[in-house]
Amino acid sequence: MSAIRVLSDLLVNQIAAGEVVERPASALKELLENSLDAGATEIEVRLLEGGGKLIQVADDGAGISREELALALARHATSKISSLDDLEQVRSLGFRGEALASIAAVSRLTLTSRRAQERHAWSIGCEGGAPAGPEPGALAAGTSVEVRDLYFNTPARRKFLKSEATEFAHCEEVFKRAALSRPDVGFALHHNGRVQRQLRAAPERHDVRVAAVLGEEFARSAVRLEQQAAGLRLWGLAGSPTFSRGTRDAQYFFVNGRFVRDKLIAHALREAYRDVLHQERHPAFVLFLELDPGAVDVNVHPTKIEVRFRDGRAVHQFIFHALSQGLAAPAAAAPAFEGASYQAAAPRPYAFPAAGVQGRLGTGLGVAQPEGFYQTLFGRRDDRAPEPEVPDTAGEAEVPPLGFALAQLQGIYILAQNAHGLVIVDMHAAHERVVYERLKAAMDQQAVAMQPLLIPVTFNADRLDVTTLEEHGETLRQLGFELAPLSPTAIAVRALPAMLKDADAQQLARAVLQDIREFGASRALTERRNELLATMACHGAVRASRALTLPEMNALLREMEATERSGQCNHGRPTWFQLTLAELDKMFMRGK
Ligand code: ADP
Ligand code: MG
Repeated sequence: MSAIRVLSDLLVNQIAAGEVVERPASALKELLENSLDAGATEIEVRLLEGGGKLIQVADDGAGISREELALALARHATSKISSLDDLEQVRSLGFRGEALASIAAVSRLTLTSRRAQERHAWSIGCEGGAPAGPEPGALAAGTSVEVRDLYFNTPARRKFLKSEATEFAHCEEVFKRAALSRPDVGFALHHNGRVQRQLRAAPERHDVRVAAVLGEEFARSAVRLEQQAAGLRLWGLAGSPTFSRGTRDAQYFFVNGRFVRDKLIAHALREAYRDVLHQERHPAFVLFLELDPGAVDVNVHPTKIEVRFRDGRAVHQFIFHALSQGLAAPAAAAPAFEGASYQAAAPRPYAFPAAGVQGRLGTGLGVAQPEGFYQTLFGRRDDRAPEPEVPDTAGEAEVPPLGFALAQLQGIYILAQNAHGLVIVDMHAAHERVVYERLKAAMDQQAVAMQPLLIPVTFNADRLDVTTLEEHGETLRQLGFELAPLSPTAIAVRALPAMLKDADAQQLARAVLQDIREFGASRALTERRNELLATMACHGAVRASRALTLPEMNALLREMEATERSGQCNHGRPTWFQLTLAELDKMFMRGK
């Protein structure tokens, strides 16, 4: 391991906003990352009172020399990078040299460490940022960090700590992510003196670790994925669409070993599952994307939970195709979990969306009209003039820019005819953009109408969902949700944003709770508002495979024309495409 050095000002300026110790779980995350970066093979976590009283992480990693202990606590001091080049190629989880300093500033911290060659350990203490020591300490090889009394010197922040159970739940989630990312490392978690989780190192047995962390039911029903192309590798377990999920969310995606929640990735995954997932259930997965560290910028977010790909488009396509293939060919896929006492579940048949052209050219023939679509999207069916008949000649003066719908293709595309030729619309992507812009407008006017549900939808929830709900009831109300905790593991949805009232209430509520949790406390609604709205829009938008009538298709086209930025969905993909008559003529070699 290289020496710890204070970063140059130049480099410090290149590093994204300083980290904040938002709650015990944020400190725990940093400590776990440090242990993994130090090459630990065993990591033990001890928490008291949800971490507020004590967070201790002990590892058997490389250790820190006596001379460097104080430096490890200094701001912008790190052994992991020393140049801009290093920053661009970073392979370690940490690189800012800030975490220990930030934690030490708001706690009573003790850092004890022993390098293998040293006769005994050394320890330094630090109370609210002022180090004392080093003194001889007791420890086998490795490092132990004790963080006591978080926020003892910042009572205002301390007040924001939630109940012990809530803080513990957040810590446990952070622990699970670390454990899933490294099956070759043994992990233990204790809370208030009781063992909560004990995970033995199982190198090469990712499936065993996943089963231990997320349950055997998931591991058994998932398909194992392994795809590689052009410097990208995607591997791991993808929950089969038929997996009947337990009560907890199980969506874990790692980029070069780092847990991320990234809109681009989330979108690629959702798209890949879209065709095979019935009724919009949440897919479960534990997936790893690996690529050259130079191709992904991890220095874009304070908690590093988001990344930026140099070629986002290529990454999106790769993930989408790799996963679609894996999900579409379950018979060929290896069973995901081969635990001794379990048989791999036989691949189950998938439900493919009803296919076929739903209307006929220019006849206005549609399928039965699904009630609600209009109202969901446009919310004013009644005061709308009847839809115009589809004219059988294009090029008339009043043909709107996106033309008139002719048919629906494979439940995915709307085909329309305008003055120039054929317009092809990705109906989900387009609808998503329309809903998103409408939500934004409604939020701007603080007028997100709530639609009470006649019969509340109740669902089994993760403990974290319930605590998120308790913490952010007001935010949720502003977004148009009325959710009520029924028990520590059950939630009732009483009202939804009126614009999304036909969305799957459970999935929508879960997705929003998850976003709020990820975005963190107070800033959720302001800074991350649009991302929340994008999530809502995606869940509220009409799904692929949904049969639309011609009037519905035309209504969507008209809405697109009236919507800003409707040329792209919220994820930057195009929503429609024009194929001109000239292009068609060329294809068919029709001379002019
Ligand atoms: P960063 O991880 O970004 O380098 P930190 O503040 O988390 O910054 O840690 C500062 C430095 O302290 C690290 O670069 C590393 O050299 C050292 N360090 C921290 N934790 C450990 C550990 N568990 N084992 C070995 N070294 C550690
Ligand atoms: Mg660190």
